[in-house]
Amino acid sequence: MKFAVYVKTPELRNDERLSSMLSALVSAGAETYFIETAGDLREGTGMLLSIGGDGTFLSASKRVGDSGIPVLGVNLGRLGFLSENDIGEVIEPLLAGDYSIEERELLKVSAEGLAPDRYYPYALNEVSVHRCGSAMLGVTVALDGRKLPVYWADGLLVATSSGSTAYSLSVGGPICMPESRVLIIAPIAPHNLNVRPLVVPDHSSIDISVHSRDGAFMFSMDNRTETVEAGTRLSVSVAQFSLKRVRLNKYNFVKALTSKLFWGEDVRNGAEQ
Ligand code: NAP
Repeated sequence: MKFAVYVKTPELRNDERLSSMLSALVSAGAETYFIETAGDLREGTGMLLSIGGDGTFLSASKRVGDSGIPVLGVNLGRLGFLSENDIGEVIEPLLAGDYSIEERELLKVSAEGLAPDRYYPYALNEVSVHRCGSAMLGVTVALDGRKLPVYWADGLLVATSSGSTAYSLSVGGPICMPESRVLIIAPIAPHNLNVRPLVVPDHSSIDISVHSRDGAFMFSMDNRTETVEAGTRLSVSVAQFSLKRVRLNKYNFVKALTSKLFWGEDVRNGAEQ
């Protein structure tokens, strides 16, 4: 197989653990090559290896775009939730074909008046709007054309199931099993006692308009940000293509929640009942 390799931090290219992993692939008859941009992907590439943390995985998902090339996350970063595989434990299952490909939904955002070639409009974790000055935002969301009460907040996000363990988690959103076909709409620091994250079907169309006394606001798609004038309308929906993510068969989502995010950790666990 032909493997493309993406590292966000250039120094990692010389990491000994990475070199020995790539040598093992080459010894088994595979071809490997490094990429920086989507344009570097070669015809016939069977898989992209994303080497780093989740931030790298998000950038790797932009590199493959709608090419259908699956991405395997190999952790050399910090948390490594999307990119959960330890570098020493990848070669054996990879060469044995002991993995499956899962489809992860992506979001597509279009911003009124913003040239589509100015930004890459897809996100794996979330699309979020934020204040860019000191003033609070008034965020109006129309769900399939029906308006929700205005959110008075620092911002708002629309997250996928993949993104439910990222920013959405920090604003009190629910954790979704990766195969759940839902989106989460959640305010960021709302100035209300009575708003909660809302879970909606993935076929929803979500229109967002933002009022700000600062005259502008920012919107982010995962780790990329644009600044636009207040009043700019955003439309968010599930993209027409998904990200193919390589999942080693030994992977267990609940185990990842406990080992990476310490879900359910309690001094009573393991004690006699
Ligand atoms: P970053 O701010 O440097 O790191 C964000 C942290 O979130 C990293 O520890 C990253 O893991 C982790 N992460 C990213 N996607 C995740 C996922 N799906 N599940 C669990 N953890 C995840 O930014 P970045 O690395 O470029 O990533 C951009 C993402 O950061 C955004 O999409 C957003 O979700 C998140 N973010 C969160 C907050 C917040 O929680 N208050 C604020 C801004 C942005 P690694 O350490 O493995 O890279």
